[in-house]
Amino acid sequence: VDGKPAGLLEWLDPEQREAAGSGGGPLLIIAGPGTGKTRTLTHRIAHLVLERGAPADECLAITFTRRAAEEMAERLEVLGARVTVATFHSLGVRILQEHHADVGLSPSFGVADPDRQVEVARTVCGDDKEARRLVAEGAEVYKKALRALDLVDFDDLVGLPLGLLESRPDLVDAYRARFRWISVDEYQDVDERQYRLLELLAPSDGNLTAIGDPDQAIYRFRGADVGFFLRFQEDFPGARVVHLTRNYRSSPAVVRGALNVVSPSTLVPGRALEPLGDHGDAPIGVHHAASEQAEAAFVARTIEQVLGGTSFHAFDSGRVTSDGTQGLGFSDFAVLYRTDRQSKALVDALTRSGLPFQKRSHDRLLDRPGVARIVRELPFAAGESVVDRIKAVAGEDHAAYELLKPLALDCGTDFERFHTTLALGVEVDTWDPRADRISLLTLHASKGLEFPVVFIVGCEDGLLPLRWPGQDDDTDEERRLLFVGMTRAQRHLFLSHTSARPRSPFLADLGDFRRIGDAQPQRRRAGTQVSLF
Ligand code: ATP
Ligand code: MG
Repeated sequence: VDGKPAGLLEWLDPEQREAAGSGGGPLLIIAGPGTGKTRTLTHRIAHLVLERGAPADECLAITFTRRAAEEMAERLEVLGARVTVATFHSLGVRILQEHHADVGLSPSFGVADPDRQVEVARTVCGDDKEARRLVAEGAEVYKKALRALDLVDFDDLVGLPLGLLESRPDLVDAYRARFRWISVDEYQDVDERQYRLLELLAPSDGNLTAIGDPDQAIYRFRGADVGFFLRFQEDFPGARVVHLTRNYRSSPAVVRGALNVVSPSTLVPGRALEPLGDHGDAPIGVHHAASEQAEAAFVARTIEQVLGGTSFHAFDSGRVTSDGTQGLGFSDFAVLYRTDRQSKALVDALTRSGLPFQKRSHDRLLDRPGVARIVRELPFAAGESVVDRIKAVAGEDHAAYELLKPLALDCGTDFERFHTTLALGVEVDTWDPRADRISLLTLHASKGLEFPVVFIVGCEDGLLPLRWPGQDDDTDEERRLLFVGMTRAQRHLFLSHTSARPRSPFLADLGDFRRIGDAQPQRRRAGTQVSLF
């Protein structure tokens, strides 16, 4: 951006421009993977603020995770628009802070983390399992005990503001006047209460923009209901609908295979997704391994071969043509799996091969090295703002400083807020997109990300689709989960399965693929594509 706001929409393709440049009123953007949803949404908001005079403080962008919120706020700042970016939970904290007395809380109420929840529940009933049940069901005795301690839990962060607004039309009017432009990313994943909250915040003819992809709805187990996306036009009559159909992320082979896999249960009939990026067209590789260990060894070996430049070269009449894998680093590889348990064999194999990796896991922020010390010493540190003080206390501990910095920046100079936020952000995502390491991720955790080379292990009946004893299958959702995973790949996609279980039935829908055999190198033949493993 050259600083001339007139050109903001020039950075978008025609479909993205139509979506971003659309004026007020309800707007639904239906967009497949890799079509630039975040880019479109940030440009839309920046365009509204910088080019159409929407006051920045009347804009509210809502995301589902803290990381997504941070990323969006950063991108908006680069474009020159400082607007409120919140998660549903942080929005709830804000509403509760502004109206704490109305729900019987003090101005310095706290947010209970899961351990604290169980502890509180135990005070009313004793037994550990029973305590977890009370928490899960939001039992009244447990909620009463929480309130007596001036605490709320995560569930309350949506439930209490919703109850408050549902009983107070005056507050609804006030918030509607305050946030006149609301955008929600990943709208396919809203649950009923989040939806009701949105419905209150945005009138049916209001400026609500929802963007998402019904085929990437993968959070039903958490209460998300893709039905809200599908009936957006009924809920917001006269809504404008824009489709984004150009995929910039993946090769044609990856896009074709992913569409084939999702099509039996697609929620976007007749979906178009046109691969426009320059990512080659290597066929999807399918590998059958004898065991989970052998499968993990295949992954490690393949990564080594790619990094060593000994594979993936297409031999065209004897001439070696580059397929774009040159210059790849560790961070360009991701290994995805359905359940966290599957990561063990991968960790062992990568460790044995000396390949650096990182696993996405959600740790408690206070358990991270250095953080507890900083929080303890904070009240005695000199400095104007929370972030100054953290910097002073952290000293050489840059890692801990970086972890706390986003929270501290949010909090300005009011400590109470920092402590509440600390409890809220009690889980930190320790996966660092900038680290040069191979990423090990569950399929759920891979949402929204992209990598040149992607492996999906355990493509087996029972794992994908996953079957829990005593639980209903949700084959459509499992299919969408594989769709999400496959569409993370830019250039090369490998699906593997072992002899432990039958092949995933989803593989039958793949269309074209290339079987990748054992470690035995094949003989190179001129004029054909040869893989060396
Ligand atoms: P997902 O559904 O997986 O979250 P998405 O729709 O959010 O996908 P993005 O991650 O925003 O997609 O974009 C995918 C890739 O396409 C990114 O690398 C982005 O930089 C690139 N991209 C988006 N729009 C354009 C464009 N107009 N021109 C070139 N590249 C683009
Ligand atoms: Mg995205």
